[in-house]
Amino acid sequence: KEPTDINALADEYLRLSYHGLRARDKSFTADFKLNLDPEAGILQVVPGDLGRVFLNLINNAFYAADEKKKELNAKGEKDFMPTVTVNTKKISTGVEIQISDNGKGIPAEIKEKIFQPFFTTKPTGKGTGLGLSMSYDIVTKGHGGEIEVDSKPGEYTVFTIKLPKS
Ligand code: ADP
Ligand code: MG
Repeated sequence: KEPTDINALADEYLRLSYHGLRARDKSFTADFKLNLDPEAGILQVVPGDLGRVFLNLINNAFYAADEKKKELNAKGEKDFMPTVTVNTKKISTGVEIQISDNGKGIPAEIKEKIFQPFFTTKPTGKGTGLGLSMSYDIVTKGHGGEIEVDSKPGEYTVFTIKLPKS
């Protein structure tokens, strides 16, 4: 672990995800927003591991928002903009990071399964189902933190990570 600027890491991986998706698919359009708490500061983390968590959650968020856009486009609604927001906030125990999207959401019946290895709703070739199980292990076992999800199907999904200060 090394002292890491959580805001800089979140910023870096949000841009990495956005530009990666744009590079692969020129028709991909989305907005992203960063709400970074200047007080979030420095935490002892494994930056590569935590970066991988951010990348997984942010890629999932863009994917879900893009799926909703495609569904709406098929119905003739063309003005939906996929949006992913990353928030950081200093809390009494450390730092809270939220990754939110305005995508298709997570149905209640699969919410319990999404952190299981190999669980995916994506077509073959689009997902391994390993991103969230790996993220769960990195946050909890690797950093003594917590990760949870809140979602309203058809409306939004928010993943919240809490990382303890050292
Ligand atoms: P993968 O992305 O390869 O499918 P993950 O472990 O990253 O595997 O995610 C597992 C499943 O959780 C996804 O297939 C999807 O059904 C659901 N999921 C994850 N993030 C989101 C999100 N932001 N919005 C809607 N569904 C999500
Ligand atoms: Mg994934």
